[in-house]
Amino acid sequence: MEFVEHRQVMILGGGPAGFTAALYTARADLKPLLVTGLILYGQASQTHCIENYPGFPEGVGGRDLGQRLDEQAKRFGTEIIYDTVQCVDLQQQPFKVCLSSTNYTADSLIISMGADSRKLGVPGEREFTGRGVSYCATCDGAFYKDKDIHIVGGGDSAVEEALFLTRFARSITIIHRRDQLRAGAILENRARSNPKIHFIWDTVVREIIGADSVSHLKIENVKTGQQDTIPSDGIFISIGHTPNTGVLEGQVKLTEFGTIEIDNHMETSVKGVFAAGEIADPYFRQVVTSAGMGAAAAISATKYLSTL
Ligand SMILES: Cc1cc2nc3c(=O)[nH]c(=O)nc-3n(C[C@H](O)[C@H](O)[C@H](O)COP(=O)(O)OP(=O)(O)OC[C@H]3O[C@@H](n4cnc5c(N)ncnc54)[C@H](O)[C@@H]3O)c2cc1C
Repeated sequence: MEFVEHRQVMILGGGPAGFTAALYTARADLKPLLVTGLILYGQASQTHCIENYPGFPEGVGGRDLGQRLDEQAKRFGTEIIYDTVQCVDLQQQPFKVCLSSTNYTADSLIISMGADSRKLGVPGEREFTGRGVSYCATCDGAFYKDKDIHIVGGGDSAVEEALFLTRFARSITIIHRRDQLRAGAILENRARSNPKIHFIWDTVVREIIGADSVSHLKIENVKTGQQDTIPSDGIFISIGHTPNTGVLEGQVKLTEFGTIEIDNHMETSVKGVFAAGEIADPYFRQVVTSAGMGAAAAISATKYLSTL
C-alpha cells in the first residue's frame, strides 16, 4: 500500500470535537486535514435544535452549528476530505491512515470519530428520531414538559435519565425487557420512590407509532407474548453507546466502557495520538464537552509537534 501524502496533523472524524480540533490546529498554522466520515457534523446534525450550546440564546439547529464550525475551521486553513478512515497503523512514526480514496502519513493524529447510540431497530424509530424519539435526556428533556413519556433500558443510564426527566415530564415509564433493573441499588431506590416513575417489566417495544410525532408504542410482554398499544408522548432509548473504535482495534488502549483511554492532556496510549469527544468520553456526551475536548486535544497536539 502506498502512502503518498504527508500531513503534520490529521483529524479523524467531523463532529463537534473534530471541527473544534481543526479550528485550533489551523490557527496554530498546522494546516490540518480533517476526515469527515459518513455523518458530516456528527450526531449533533441529527437534531433540529440544540438549546444548551453556549452563545446561542435562541438555540441553534444541529446542521447550522456544524456549518458554522466548518466555515470557521476552513477560514484558518483546514483542509476537509469527505471520506472514511478504513485503517490506521500507529505502531511507528509517521502514523499511517488509509481512507477509501488516498493513504496518508501524519506526525500526529486527533481521533474524534464519536459514538453511536445503540438503536432498538424497530419500525418508526428512525422516522421519529427528533420528533419524539430521543437518545439523550440532557439534550431533549426540556421539550417534554408535562408529557407522559417512556424510557427503554434498565441500566444506570436509563434510571439516571428517568430521574432527570422527572424535572419536566408528568410521568416517566421505564420499559425493561427483564423483571429487574441492572442499575445500582441507590439509583433503583430513588426511582422506585419517585411518584412520577413507573415500570413495565419483561417487555420490549416492537413499534413506534405516530403521525407528526410519536403518539403510541406497540409493546410485547416477552414472557406471555401479549401485545398492547399504549399512548406515549415520547420515548427515550437508553440501551448504551458504541464508540466508533472499530478501525483502531489493537492500536490504542481502550477503557472498560470501550472508549479510548486518554490522560489529562487527551493523549492516548500512543505518544502523538490524541482523542477527543464521545470516542473518549463515556460520561458527558454533549456538544460543548466534545468541542472542549477537541480544543484540548489540539493544544496538546500542537505542543507535541513543537517537540519533534
Ligand atoms: C439526536 C441527538 C440529539 C442530540 N442533542 C444534543 C443537544 O441538544 N445538546 C448536546 O450538547 N448534545 C446533543 N447530542 C449529543 C451530541 O451530538 C454529541 O455529544 C456530540 O455530537 C459528540 O461529538 P463528537 O465530535 O465527539 O462525535 P460525533 O458527533 O459522534 O461525530 C463523530 C464524527 O466521526 C465521524 N466518523 C465516524 N467513523 C469514522 C471513520 N471511520 N472515519 C472517519 N470519520 C468517522 C462521523 O462521520 C462524525 O462526523 C445529541 C445527540 C443526538 C444523537
